[in-house]
Amino acid sequence: MRCEMCGKDETTLVTISVEGSVLKVCTACSRFGKVLDTSRTSTAPLPKGPAAREVVETRLADRTTRRTERDLFAELPEMELAPDWPRRIRSARERMGLSQEKFGQLLNEKTSVIHKLEAGSMTPPDALVRKIERTLKIRIRASEPAA
Ligand SMILES: [Zn+2]
Repeated sequence: MRCEMCGKDETTLVTISVEGSVLKVCTACSRFGKVLDTSRTSTAPLPKGPAAREVVETRLADRTTRRTERDLFAELPEMELAPDWPRRIRSARERMGLSQEKFGQLLNEKTSVIHKLEAGSMTPPDALVRKIERTLKIRIRASEPAA
């Protein structure tokens, strides 16, 4: 049997696909295309067959899907805040006789942060939500009733 690429007479030929055309070539020439026939007896290192490639691609797709789901989950807020949470913060703060500045000091946050929170222009991260609730002894989460 002759290699359809280099013409060398070989006992074992490998079926490969080169740019859409299928050729029977020697093991040395098989590296120029995608190997279709993996039943050859050659010990030469060759590219993996289409079946193996499919498994790899499926695994890669799985990994991509998992990573995407995790990223989406990470973006979801852990806590859903009550619709009137800025008002709850403000009224509770005033009830305790705290200025925005003093309240900010208690939370270890800048006064501007408190101002933004009470204006509803900044959503507090989960850690700050817990700190606000602890400091003012209120609940600003949607799932729990206001104190
Ligand atoms: Zn050849």
